[in-house]
Amino acid sequence: MGKTRLALTIAAVITLVGCGADSGDATGQAQAAQQDEVNFGLVIHGGAGTITRENMTPEREEAFKAALNAALDAGYAILEAGGESMDAVIAAIQVMEEEPLFNAGRGSVYTFDGGHELDASIMHGGLLDAGAVAGVRTVKSPIQLAREVMENSRHVMLSAEGAAEFAEERGLELVENSYFNTEHRYEQLQRALELLREEDRTGDQIAQSGTWDPAFNMGTVGAVAVDQRGNIVAGTSTGGMTAKRYNRIGDAPIIGAGTWADNASCGVSATGHGEYFIRYNVSAQVCSRVKYLGESIEEAGAHVIHNVLLPVGGTGGVIIMDAQGNFSMPFNTEGMYRGARTQREGTVIGIYQQEE
Ligand code: ASP
Repeated sequence: MGKTRLALTIAAVITLVGCGADSGDATGQAQAAQQDEVNFGLVIHGGAGTITRENMTPEREEAFKAALNAALDAGYAILEAGGESMDAVIAAIQVMEEEPLFNAGRGSVYTFDGGHELDASIMHGGLLDAGAVAGVRTVKSPIQLAREVMENSRHVMLSAEGAAEFAEERGLELVENSYFNTEHRYEQLQRALELLREEDRTGDQIAQSGTWDPAFNMGTVGAVAVDQRGNIVAGTSTGGMTAKRYNRIGDAPIIGAGTWADNASCGVSATGHGEYFIRYNVSAQVCSRVKYLGESIEEAGAHVIHNVLLPVGGTGGVIIMDAQGNFSMPFNTEGMYRGARTQREGTVIGIYQQEE
């Protein structure tokens, strides 16, 4: 029996004997009692960075908005039909993984060596269970593999060839690494390599000096959904950083840094300069502030993004949703591709600052 099914079965038994309210289970009585109040929905992002109206064409803006809308459509349809937040997050992220505009799946950035290494993770806020994959080169949908790791392995995080072997065992679609080749990302790699050669510095140092084009990395995708049972799931998928080297792994597959979900506080997916998101455990830190300090998701998210990350040079943003379907999308960059659709509030899509 897979780990999740086992946990769900145990949760169901606990509920039957009438003491499941505090267990964080997926079918608990407390959640069932709240069912009528649940405002189901999802929030998504497609990366944060230097996105200004001046450096955007109307066609490109429309293309991003259409892609974000398509991801919201896919996830929301599942939630509306009474489906699970796990399926909604996977569906929304897969739409973005297949869209070359984003730095995830198909449109993933290039490594220093001219290949692609993809990272992803997913976490279930009722089960507090998670799955993650890092440095995968041949798996078409890394987010799907992260789910497989959570539900059908004894582990939380797999990497590189071992992760691909597991993907094959689970019957997931494998592709050549060249499947992820795109012209615009190749051009970005060439410009990044040029900068690295000229300046004889690491990408991080160049990023801090301001000469590194933030568009090099932009486009990580993520989703957080709450279903009609009140379960929160958060997921993140990325190609990481352009010209990354030595099998660098970012925050996206690290539970607590790039992704976190706990029904008792909130779900978070992050995008930005991964090294900072790892060091400041950003996603879990947001939820901890909600859980232990009693802050709202707006307060907690704004604090971490603007007061913790920004002063130390950590650029990026997060999307947050709580079990009541309230959401927040703070970022400290010029823009963040983002969108939300909830039963109560309908659809919101944003790219630049001050749009909602
Ligand atoms: N967080 C990602 C990474 O560092 C990149 C991004 O979100 O822009 O791998």
